[in-house]
Amino acid sequence: MRRQFTGAAAAKGLAMGRARVREPHRLDVEERRVRADEVEQERELLREALGAARNELNELRERVRGAIAHEVGEFLDLHAMLLDDPELAEGLDELIRTGRYSAGYALRLQRDRLAAVFDGIDDPYLRSRREDIDHVIGRVYAALHSEPSPQVIGLAGEVLVCENIAPSELAQLHEEGVVAIVTGQGSPLSHSAILARSLHMPLLVGAHEALLHINDGDALIVDAYHGVVIAEPDADDLRGFRTAEAEEKRERRSLARLKKARTRTRDGVEVRLWANAESRDDVAQALSLDASGIGLYRTEFLFLQRGELPSEEEQFLAYRDLVLGMDGRPVTIRTLDLGADKADSTGLVLDDEDNPALGLRGVRLCLAHPGVFRDQLRAILRATAYGEVRVLIPMVSHAEELRTCRQIIDRCWTELEGEGHALGKRPELGAMIEVPAAALAIDTLLPHITFCSVGTNDLIQYLLAADRGNDALGALCSPEHPAVRFVLGEVFRRCREAGKQVAVCGELAGDPRYTEYLLRLGLTDFSMHPGSMLSVRKAVRDCDLG
Ligand code: PEP
Ligand code: MG
Repeated sequence: MRRQFTGAAAAKGLAMGRARVREPHRLDVEERRVRADEVEQERELLREALGAARNELNELRERVRGAIAHEVGEFLDLHAMLLDDPELAEGLDELIRTGRYSAGYALRLQRDRLAAVFDGIDDPYLRSRREDIDHVIGRVYAALHSEPSPQVIGLAGEVLVCENIAPSELAQLHEEGVVAIVTGQGSPLSHSAILARSLHMPLLVGAHEALLHINDGDALIVDAYHGVVIAEPDADDLRGFRTAEAEEKRERRSLARLKKARTRTRDGVEVRLWANAESRDDVAQALSLDASGIGLYRTEFLFLQRGELPSEEEQFLAYRDLVLGMDGRPVTIRTLDLGADKADSTGLVLDDEDNPALGLRGVRLCLAHPGVFRDQLRAILRATAYGEVRVLIPMVSHAEELRTCRQIIDRCWTELEGEGHALGKRPELGAMIEVPAAALAIDTLLPHITFCSVGTNDLIQYLLAADRGNDALGALCSPEHPAVRFVLGEVFRRCREAGKQVAVCGELAGDPRYTEYLLRLGLTDFSMHPGSMLSVRKAVRDCDLG
């Protein structure tokens, strides 16, 4: 019988195939304590399991070749890093030694602790990092019980339906010829989603009902454009699928022709498309799509994938590679935007704020930790030796914050010169406009900056008092709310009048449904994930502002 379920489209695409339902790999280990004389044996079992999991990751890295090796390598490296994190091994060891828990139960406790930390993060992108913890601990657990690695053989032409998917598995599944994946959990902002998009593997996440009601062997149509999966489709569905498939092919062919095309409206308004980049792959893709530059590089990922602060040197190398990767095009590096809502693993963020979204986050946190801010700014300034760099300050609400940032930047510049570091052109300074006060009093900020970037993800949440991470409020966060329209229009107008460049770098900029809306409000610089760039370019070219 025909059944239809919904989920979130994490990687767009269409596919049809038989369902292969994979039972969830649950870590629901019963609490078990061991005798004092068994503690050593449990510790040894755990050490062996950690080693085996590490070997598996190494082998996987060896096996994955070809075009996807690079992307997958990054995910595998991240998992290896999590696995090698001394805090993980020490935490587990401590649970066995002092709590006398079995190795399996210690893994579960540790996973639950880390999961609670990630679940408490407001930012959906960062919260989705929890999946990586699950995958890594799941791998160790499987090694502890000598379970085979996830079975991915013989799935060619099938749709995998499962609780969740690891980026490393996704790569294997892609090679094996799986046509789409439907998961009960997961987020469109997860690593797996990012990888699925670059592999062009349709991925539907958060399809809880589908997972409960789809059976092994059901015929499935996955429409990961509209977030729908149909089990046992009828003749109308099949006709619809064929039509949509033909349309998709046509669309892809025509979009591919736009790779180097000019981004200009029918009536001649020139538009610049910038990339929001987090990985090397994003940078390569941005360049291949002729992005004007990197419009947003979120540096907090350098801080969050680990429990300690990255050194100036380490940050410098990351920023330098980013600048080199863009081959002379400008790169906008956003200074640290941590806050209690984003993470506390670095020890910087207060964990007792009543209202962290309105707390010590972004530039406020940086100014409260001048040593950390200085290390980051020095690293950014040193990257100027390799190409054009722009510094973007997040969560600005007062002109005074920008004045202080400018002073610190100037001081760092002089220091670096004195130390004989190679430096390029002094970076331009910009502000993220994401606090309503900054938007409304933009005239007070403009004298201190040369450009600004509107973070609509936060600006809309703060304007409408609607938490951006709360699914139940999704419909309220409308970019077309009159207040949002008014504020955006004003910000664009005042920047234009003051001769300052203004871009939008929130998700809104990458959504072609709103391209014309933003153009009509006067925006000409859009910054988005490279995956959205061709459809936005097309939307611009189709637009006549008359
Ligand atoms: C925004 O708020 O729109 C933005 C781009 O910043 P982030 O999503 O990192 O908060
Ligand atoms: Mg923001």
